[in-house]
Amino acid sequence: MCYGFIMTVLFLCLLTACGSEGDGAGSETIGISMPTQSSERWVNDGDNMVSELEELGYETNLQYGEDVVEDQVSQIENMITEGVDALVIAPIDGEALTNVLDMAQNSDIPVIAYDRLIMNHEHVSYYATFDNFEVGVLQGEYIEDHLGLADGEGPHHIELFAGSPDDNNAYFFWDGAMSVLDSYIESGDLIVGSEQTDFEQAATPQWSGSDAQERMDNILSAHYANEEVDAVYSPFDGISLGVISSLKSVGYGTDNQPLPLITGQDADTSSVQSIIDGEQTQTIFKDTRALADKAVDMVDAVINDKEAEVNDTKTYDNGEKVVPANLLEPVSVDQSNYEEVLMESGYYSEEDLDIE
Ligand code: BGC
Repeated sequence: MCYGFIMTVLFLCLLTACGSEGDGAGSETIGISMPTQSSERWVNDGDNMVSELEELGYETNLQYGEDVVEDQVSQIENMITEGVDALVIAPIDGEALTNVLDMAQNSDIPVIAYDRLIMNHEHVSYYATFDNFEVGVLQGEYIEDHLGLADGEGPHHIELFAGSPDDNNAYFFWDGAMSVLDSYIESGDLIVGSEQTDFEQAATPQWSGSDAQERMDNILSAHYANEEVDAVYSPFDGISLGVISSLKSVGYGTDNQPLPLITGQDADTSSVQSIIDGEQTQTIFKDTRALADKAVDMVDAVINDKEAEVNDTKTYDNGEKVVPANLLEPVSVDQSNYEEVLMESGYYSEEDLDIE
């Protein structure tokens, strides 16, 4: 009787322990490979993934490739050799992971693509990301609304920046934005002074803010001696800040010559501060807490041989398969709503920003 009682208590304890640690997290280790710490969002992503996984009882191994493709590849190789139980990867170059994914496949280690799609490999179980096309649409519509394009106001001068060509997301952002802006460029309501209207001409390898700044310097000196720029389409906060530095260096940012409308993405604190200070105009907020939640659900599912919840099974073809994805909604942020979206949601606190 005493023995039975002890066994029952032991059984109940085991049940409770399993319940509080998620679905079967024991001593599994999850390898998390992130692209860079040079932009704040990825630091938040890494931190959120680690804390959420650890809360469920997983061990974690978080590494940053710092935008060096070979380093990311060797970090992932090491994780595989060390025997991680699953991998969550936000690739620097989506096409450079074929060999390392072969290794993961041969070792039966499931792989989840995080924010950026991993291309050309069947061994990608799930993709957790945002609606990347919608990001571009929101940026394009912001320009459309604030330049009054739909009301026939114009013509306005605009310059266009695209993201890194090795990042599949960059094409989605660009296509989304151009789905709104293209017709105005064709009608002449938007004039691209540099005439650089193709993705390849506008691309910014490695999303580099300093490269964007240099490109903007060249554009301004070659094409804007007698004209003013009214808007800059930028897909990423780091690019926006580079463009702003360039514009300020030739005299923009004064009462006589205000900065143009400049979009962005990520709601990094430096860009939110720039918005508060009246320099960058807009950004896109992608809640990295919600993204980590989705990716962690996917990890828990693959580890426990279950199906994860997805809401898109047709958009993200990586060349080998259409990867089942969960797409979160991006939110456009500017001076009018940053307090509500970023502060009231607890994403940032007053100490993070200088609000006067
Ligand atoms: C991400 C963006 C980010 C960009 C540069 C993209 O893949 O989706 O949020 O702005 O990379 O880091």
